[in-house]
Amino acid sequence: MNPPDALDGLFRIDAAGCADGTGFALAPASLLLRCSGPARLEVLAVGSPEAVSRHEAAGGACRLQRPHSILLPALVNAHAHLDLTHIGPQPFDQQGGFTGWIGMIRERRASGILPGIQSVRRGVGLCLMGGAAAVGDIVAGGPEAAQAQLRDGRLSGAAFLELLGIGPREPVAIERVRSWAADIRLGGPNGWGGLAVGLQPHAPYSAGMKLYQVAADLCRAAHAPFATHLAESRDEHELVAEGRGPLRDFLDSLGLWTTSLASCFGRGLSPVQFLYPVLRAIPTLAAHVNDCSDDDLNLLAQTRTSVVYCPRSASYFGHHADFGPHRYQDMLSVGINVCLGTDSIVNLPPQHADRLSTLDEMRFLWARDRFNPAKLLAMATIHGALSLGLDPNRFTLATPGAAYGGEGRRVAGIIGVDASDTDPALHPLIRVLESCSLPEWLPLPPEAAMEEGG
Ligand SMILES: [Zn+2]
Repeated sequence: MNPPDALDGLFRIDAAGCADGTGFALAPASLLLRCSGPARLEVLAVGSPEAVSRHEAAGGACRLQRPHSILLPALVNAHAHLDLTHIGPQPFDQQGGFTGWIGMIRERRASGILPGIQSVRRGVGLCLMGGAAAVGDIVAGGPEAAQAQLRDGRLSGAAFLELLGIGPREPVAIERVRSWAADIRLGGPNGWGGLAVGLQPHAPYSAGMKLYQVAADLCRAAHAPFATHLAESRDEHELVAEGRGPLRDFLDSLGLWTTSLASCFGRGLSPVQFLYPVLRAIPTLAAHVNDCSDDDLNLLAQTRTSVVYCPRSASYFGHHADFGPHRYQDMLSVGINVCLGTDSIVNLPPQHADRLSTLDEMRFLWARDRFNPAKLLAMATIHGALSLGLDPNRFTLATPGAAYGGEGRRVAGIIGVDASDTDPALHPLIRVLESCSLPEWLPLPPEAAMEEGG
């Protein structure tokens, strides 16, 4: 059934169940919503069908029957590269390894503003297909390209301007980011739809420490989000700890390997230890952290770092063969905010490339690890929202014990997952995880609130 055309009004959804990342779950369940324009959706009541029928506004609501669907809050995809969407899924070349893969991306990245816009727009559409209302998107090409790509306004979250500059190229990169910060407003709102603008020094092997520090200072002053790739691959570990390996050769081939760069690396530090001075100075959204010793885990726990785990990306590259299973469960148990991301479409299975969905990441972890379903949903909602500076309450459905008054509570969106391919006796969230269905927006896809100039 197509969603109703009207944007304004009251909607009641009667469903097989509902759940959120706080541990709340109910089956069957009804939800009473008020929609006032595309950017404002409020939950007026959530509960059993009988309880929702007793709400004073229930009588006038447009009814949507979803007897086979489980309702969830909108998801967060905390790490994506929407500007790589045009490349599509690609097989991983074991021979070329991680460093060879980076070379492939460098060659195939779209150049020019228009192809970039088309690629990102397609990526935004794939995020919405996947049930995400918010994204942490890494954008190359500087603010002008990024703004053109992202002002579409359907997603909230953060756009991180990617910073590359190491060795002889680092001073130019520092000048460039300073001039960007003078020209645009870091943080938000800033007219980029619902996205705050942050900075992302790419990784310890592609951005120098001074560039990291300058970017961190700029973000801290503007209360802007800050991200990086960290502790992703064996090649990165080898470069940082020992000053050698494929990434050193790669930097050498670009004419970037100098004696002063050589003296930065090769001091026996892990990537997390290497970046610790930055992690201590600013809350950082660190993508991957596949490489994480006990000592690294303790260091991360002493900072306000959020880790974005991208399970299918880690599996695509085979990082577990080098580092063992990802330590997301250990990270969570020491209080690190672990969220989920898809990474780019390039490392997703072709059969799932019609969407970019952290629901697929949850299903992957459920199938492999049988990890706690409510915690998996928290990673794809509440934790992701926290990592991007969003209000986590917009990514939950229920406040335990609360009776919603006339105001209701705002949510970023509601998705329904048709679970008719699963056993109705199962817990509603397990049904979501075992189903193969794509999410459906109810009553309509989100549109980020455009606070200013959007
Ligand atoms: Zn990435």
